[in-house]
Amino acid sequence: MVQRATPYVPGKQIDGVDILKLNTNENPYPPSPKVIDAIETEMKASLQLYPSPTVDSLRETVGELYDLSADHVFVGNGSDEVLAFSFMAFFEHGEEIVFPKITYSFYEVYATLFDVPYKLVELERDFTIPVEQLFQAEGGVIFPNPNAPTSLYMTLDSVREVIEQNPNKVVIVDEAYVDFADKSAVSLINDYDNLLVIQTTSKSRALAGLRVGFALGQPHLIDALVRIKDSMNSYTIDRLALVGAKAAIKDVYYTRKRVDQIIETRKWAQEKLREMGFCVLPSQTNFLFAEHYSYDGAILQEKLQEMNVLIRHFNVPPIENYLRITIGTDEQMTQFFEKLQQAMDQM
Ligand SMILES: *Cc1c(COP(=O)(O)O)cnc(C)c1O
Repeated sequence: MVQRATPYVPGKQIDGVDILKLNTNENPYPPSPKVIDAIETEMKASLQLYPSPTVDSLRETVGELYDLSADHVFVGNGSDEVLAFSFMAFFEHGEEIVFPKITYSFYEVYATLFDVPYKLVELERDFTIPVEQLFQAEGGVIFPNPNAPTSLYMTLDSVREVIEQNPNKVVIVDEAYVDFADKSAVSLINDYDNLLVIQTTSKSRALAGLRVGFALGQPHLIDALVRIKDSMNSYTIDRLALVGAKAAIKDVYYTRKRVDQIIETRKWAQEKLREMGFCVLPSQTNFLFAEHYSYDGAILQEKLQEMNVLIRHFNVPPIENYLRITIGTDEQMTQFFEKLQQAMDQM
């Protein structure tokens, strides 16, 4: 297995006061104060005891978000872990799964590690996913909605088609960014027994450091994930993560307020980039994906890094000239645009 592993390369994590960090799609705001209260209380109470292996109360809280019972919910140590367990539970060695060529790079990492063959679907010229290419997959389908790093959202009608055109195979919709987008596919769960939706507290709820993600689907899919988890590690969610995630998910008002603010910032930042001559895709996420026709993306990213501004660049065609810029606070974005202008002036 070690020979086969080609690990995911995450964006740089540099701790420093002067770094403007817009490279890993973290939330620029702190989590709800209720999260901190809950963690402080728990910290003083019972860290000497193992946490709940079934995390029932957190599963109930997640279910309540979408009017589903706890048996429709699985919780994991970040959605990356939920994704890994899903590959193990639903995708087989001999059956080819399908996902977009330009997408979250962990899918290829997991497919390789777990020895699942895969077919990559080329994006259209406008970077949308050609929906028909996801039909009749031999082994199943996985894609993010909105897609990363393109930031584009697929309508629920199209998602429904993908599910219907893959009967008896599991369709996984990775909704890491859905709170910044139109609608979640969770509303389709009661209609389809082959749909698994994965979400996270890392982006919209500002808890990337706590590591809590979850999957929603019909109980037979959840049971399969539990079987895998209990064959690996009974306690994937520690006590602090459990109470913190619960408090964050319950504080719907706080999440909405922060998400709305990020969407407001996204609007003006998108306009500003266009004024500077960038082509910007219509984002439904907390980041922008943009290219400039007369400035090289890789060089822009390097120059910004020299100025302690981190953004993400992927050196793969056809997106090798694009930059992925996480939406920060208004102040951070103002600072970003100053530095970007400086970088462009030097070229
Ligand atoms: C950020 C991200 C994840 C991982 O989220 P964690 O819950 O922090 O592991 C999964 N999928 C996509 C598409 C992401 O962008």
